[in-house]
Parts: sequence; C-alpha cells; structure tokens
Amino acid sequence: NMPADPPYLAALNAPQREAVTTTEGPVLVLAGAGTGKTAALTARLAHILFSRLAWPSEILSVTFTNKAAREMRERVGRMVGDAVEGMPWLGTFHSIGAKMLRRHAELVGLQSNFTIIDTDDQLRLLKQLIAAEEIDEKRYPARLLAGLIDRWKNAGLTPTELGAGDSEAYADGKGQQLYAAYQARLKTINACDFGDLLLHPLVILKTHREVLESYQAKFKYILVDEYQDTNSVQYLWLRLLAQKHRNIACVGDDDQSIYSWRGAQVENILRFERDFPGAKIVKLEQNYRSTPHILGAASGVIAHNGGRLGKTLWTELDAGEKVRVMGVWDGPEEARRVGELIEDLQRGTKGNAPVSLDTVAILVRAQFQTREFEDRFIQIGLPYRIVGGFRFYERAEIRDAIAYLRLINQPADDLAFDRIVNTPKRGLGDKAVGRIHAYARAENISLLHAAARLLDSDELTPQARKSLGRFVADIARWRDRTNDLNHAELTRLVLDESGYTAMLQADRTAEAAGRLENLSELARAMEEYETLEAFLEHVSLVMDNDARDDAAKVTIMTIHAAKGLEYHHVFLVGWEEGVFPSQRALDEGGNASLEEERRLAYVAITRAREQCTILHAANRRIYGQWTSSIPSRFVGELPADHIEEESTMGGGPSMWRANWSATGDPFAHVGSGTGRGPGWQRATNKPSPLQGRGSEPYERSELGAAERGGSGRNALFTPGL
Ligand code: ATP
Ligand code: MG
Repeated sequence: NMPADPPYLAALNAPQREAVTTTEGPVLVLAGAGTGKTAALTARLAHILFSRLAWPSEILSVTFTNKAAREMRERVGRMVGDAVEGMPWLGTFHSIGAKMLRRHAELVGLQSNFTIIDTDDQLRLLKQLIAAEEIDEKRYPARLLAGLIDRWKNAGLTPTELGAGDSEAYADGKGQQLYAAYQARLKTINACDFGDLLLHPLVILKTHREVLESYQAKFKYILVDEYQDTNSVQYLWLRLLAQKHRNIACVGDDDQSIYSWRGAQVENILRFERDFPGAKIVKLEQNYRSTPHILGAASGVIAHNGGRLGKTLWTELDAGEKVRVMGVWDGPEEARRVGELIEDLQRGTKGNAPVSLDTVAILVRAQFQTREFEDRFIQIGLPYRIVGGFRFYERAEIRDAIAYLRLINQPADDLAFDRIVNTPKRGLGDKAVGRIHAYARAENISLLHAAARLLDSDELTPQARKSLGRFVADIARWRDRTNDLNHAELTRLVLDESGYTAMLQADRTAEAAGRLENLSELARAMEEYETLEAFLEHVSLVMDNDARDDAAKVTIMTIHAAKGLEYHHVFLVGWEEGVFPSQRALDEGGNASLEEERRLAYVAITRAREQCTILHAANRRIYGQWTSSIPSRFVGELPADHIEEESTMGGGPSMWRANWSATGDPFAHVGSGTGRGPGWQRATNKPSPLQGRGSEPYERSELGAAERGGSGRNALFTPGL
C-alpha cells in the first residue's frame, strides 16, 4: 500500500494530482502556459517509480530538448532518489529514435555503428544523385529535394508510400525515384540522416511484429511533454507503442504550437481523443508562474487567433507590475536601455533587492538580433550566455566572413587562409591544400604567399591551379579596394564576389536565411567602427571575453529555444513589423503563418514570472540606411489595462548625444547622406542579396553532439540546450 501523500503529490493541486495518479489508461493534459504541465508530468514519472508500477527501463518519456530531459531526470531524482538511475528511455524523440535504431539497424539494412550525417553531407549526396539523373540542378536545386525528403520523413512516408502528387513536386515526377535512390545510397555508406532517426524506427515497428510486440510489452508507461509540437511520424510511433498497455500521458497547449514549419501538427491533440477512446482529459487552469498583468497581456494577444481550443487561466499571485512597453529610437538604444535596466536589477535600485543575472532573459525572434546585445554587454562587462546557438562572432558564417577580412588585412594570417581557401567550395581538395602547406613550410613563407608561387609550378593540377589563381587574385583585388571602399562595403563585396552569398542563397532552408541575416548584421556592426583593424580588434576581444562559467549570466536566446522555460525578468526585444512578426511570415501572407507568430508572442510573454518588458525601436539601420519601423501589431494587441507605455522618443538630450556619437546621424535617411560616417553615406536603397528573410532560428534536431557523431558546420543549428 502506498503512503497516502508522498511529498511530490502534496505539492500539487487537484487536477494535477489527477493527472499524476491516473496511471492506467490514456491521459491528455491540455492547459495553458505555466499551469504546471511539466511539473505534473515529472511528478507522474516519480509516482510510477515510487509506487513501483514499473522499472525505470519500462518507461518511455519524451521531452522536447536534451536540457528538458536532464532537468526531468534531476527533478525525479530529487523526488524518489536512486530509483531514476538508468532511465534509458528518457530523452528527445531523436535521441530515443537513435537508440532504438542502433539496436535494430540490420532490419533496415544498416549496421549498428551507422553515422548520422549532417545537412552538408546530405546535400552532397543528393547533388551526386541529381547529376547522375542529368537533372538541371539550377532548376531543381538539391535543397528543394532535401526539403521535400525531410517533409516526407516527418510525415512518416517511405519512398514507396508517397502519393502521386508528392513525387510531382520535384523535377517532373522524379521525386520518388530520387528519394528511393537517396535511401539506397545511405544504406550503402551505412549512414542515416536526422529524419531517418524517426522514420526507420517507425518502419521497423510497422514491419517487424516481434520487435513491435517487445517494445509494446516493455513500455508500460509513456509520457510526452510539449505534445502540441509532435509531427506525424512521432505521433505514429507513439500510437503504435502505446497500443498494448495504453498508459500514455501527453501534456500540451495548442496555443504554444510553434513548430508547424517543421511538420508539427497541432491536430494531433484532436487525434488523441479519437485514437485513444476513453482518454481522461485533464484541464489545468491555475497558473503558478506569472502575475495577473503578465497573464492578461499574453491572453489578450492570443485571443486574436481563431480556431483555438480555448482555455481558462487564473492565478492567485499578486497583480504585480504591468507589462512595460518601451519605444526607443533605434537598435543601439534598445541594447543600451536593456543593459541599463538589467544593471538596475542587478544593483537593486528603488528599494528592490538585488537580482541574480541567472533570473533574467532576453528573448529574440531571430538569431541575428543577439549581436547588438552581445556587443553592448561586452562593452559594459555584463556577463551573458547564448542558449540554443552560438555567440554571434562564433557562428560559422561570421567566422568565415571574418577570415576573409583577416586575410585581406593581413596576408600572413594562415589560420584565416585555411578556413576559407575552399569555402565556398572551389574544388581545392586536401591534396592541393597539403601541397601549399608543405611548400610554405619548406620556404618558410605564408600560405597565401606559397599559393601565389605555386601557380607557376606544376605541383598542382591544372584545375587546382586555375581556382587557386582566382582566389589569390581575388584577395589581392579586394585588398586594393580597401582604398576606395569602407570596410562594411568591402565586406559585402567580398561576400558577393567570393560566391559566399550565392552559396547561402542557393540554400533555401530557414537555416541559410538565418545565416544571411547574420552576415547582413555583421556588416551593420562594422559600420560602428572607424577602420577594419579597429573592428577586427573588437572581434578578437569579444572572442576572448568568456565570463567564468559559474558566474551568473543573463540568458539571450530565441523564443523557440525558450519554450517550456521561465525567468523572473524577461525582455522581449525588436517587436516591430518585419522583425516580429517576421518578414517571412508577412511575405507569405495568409493567416496561418501570422497565427503561428502570434503563438510565439504568447510563448514569449508567458516565460515571464514577475516582470515583462517589451521594446520596439523606431529606426533600424538596414544596409547603412536608416529605415523607420512600425511597432509590431502584437504591441497593439496588448490590452491597455495590463501595460504601461514608456517612450524615449520625446528625446532627452542624452539620447541625442548617444545617437550622434555612437551611430551617426539618425536622420541620414531624410536628407541625401550628408551625415558623418562613410558607412551609410554611400548606401543605396537597392535591396541587397544579403538582406535575408525572417528566419526560423531553431535547431533541426535535439540530438546532442555525441549522439550525432561528426561535428561540421551543421553544429551551428544544434542547440545543446
Ligand atoms: P509551459 O506551458 O510554459 O511549458 P507548464 O504548464 O509546463 O508551462 P510548469 O513549467 O510545469 O508549467 O510550471 C510553471 C511553474 O509553476 C513552475 O515554476 C512550477 O514549479 C510551478 N508550479 C507548478 N505546479 C505548481 C503547484 N501545484 N503549486 C505551486 N507551484 C507550481
Ligand atoms: Mg512545460
């Protein structure tokens, strides 16, 4: 017999307890943000273990990120002690899929030591197959095919299961054939891609009865967090695995479905009731996270979406502060203001106790937005961490661009040479690069110098000589241009002429769009520095500025990465049309993408516990040109009762001083470029190829680097959350 009230139960409210103690049969918890869904799921896991209903290895628990899995493990550990040792099936869908696949790899023609390839490898493979079919890759880019294959895999479709219409989407009906060829090729090289980590296990379960039955028998209990963001293949998995014991508990919130761009289907919530008749539906309505003003603001915004399942939310917490909405002049002022406000929190002004930086977060819509805050925080010595991505100057494309500039600035910079000599690909293999290295060592000269000399020798193949010749000439020509171009313009020129921009443009994924945005942000950042040297020095200082690991830090991350998390003080920045909602959502038109942006706004506001501050700037510098921006429509949707508006737009003298000295004349766009700072004087209105679209900033997979094997550039988009 169980003790009447173990401590983990005592802490819960009645409906939460119901979700925890109804261990048998299907359970669906459908509830708004901060109502304790994850808390209930964690307690449920503890309860099953504590009551000895199953061994740790008999419970399948799915979380959305590795970080969430770690936290759940720790919390359950605190509740029931050692019993959690070895919960092998607690993790993300991808990590669980990888584990299952390693055990049964041979059933889909792989060996258990298969590699998981990244996007670069995937594209290389597809290109070979496309070329073999003599399809015009310009018309039908490999990226397009990669996107389709991803979508098919998310939908749980193998090549033979595609509908007639599916195949049509690529090269006049060749989609299916190429998908099949790609899968066959992967098998030959004993590899799989991210999508296969979900699809292969599904195929195994569907086609090997004994395997299915063994897992069905094994998993006595299944628990799923963030259920609203499961896609079809994940849903099909769950449905199969839960068929025997039917003890499946899913928790989610339809208003927080923010991954439809990756195939997530909020309809899975409705499907659950159909597929698991008699499911117990639990509603949680008490929010324990946020003050009434924060909740009121979030509810007011999400109310503008149609077709919601609809939920009630209430809280017993004190009213607290209203949501602050601040209009600022421009991006630099936004970063400055946020920096000041955080320093105030840290010091504890106005009779408030000092606050730890660990309880403060800045949430951005897209990765490129972190740069302005990082630069500012480094300047004022405010420690920060970037979650779900890399620091701005550590991102692969930024390092590449900077390597070009370093080599132009300093021809003996061998590290820079190595980084970019074959990026983008110029057909210079390891062999050619090896020759250059050997020659440089023998002659004791720089790599670039060695490369130039080797052009006249027959050490290299004619093909290698040709492309190396172009590279060496390009670098020399760009160095000459430093006389007549300012460094920001030079950067754009180099990225365009080197083919780097084109490489990313050919890549139609959301990730590539984000990289383009980062590069355009880089050029913007450079405009703040007088010379290229000054900028490069700034970058080296930034790279060296790692705060101690155990120090408290402000967290900067995308809204996507903040899902499920909470902070006492939250700053939501860049709430302007074209930033948030993103330009991409606006371009797509239609209500669906806008509603997804609105759900993102709801997720963003509901991360805050005590204080939520929303900022929007009146001006953003795009390509050296000041453009005025309009506050986000979501600002307009915040109910007046719950907000407190504040604007620096009246313009105190300090603002003017700051703007003139730090960023040049904010009115430059009004006149004809009479301001100072060459950065924007020569700017034109011509849309630049670098002006990326709004991006989906999140990672492709929640696999940890270790599980993924290999590192590669794709690592940029894995969160390490
Ligand atoms: P989200 O939708 O954002 O994922 P959630 O519904 O999963 O939110 P939790 O993160 O589980 O919510 O809980 C929100 C906060 O409320 C946490 O700080 C949690 O500790 C607290 N909490 C949950 N349940 C209770 C409770 N019964 N009593 C007091 N605090 C609670
Ligand atoms: Mg949660």
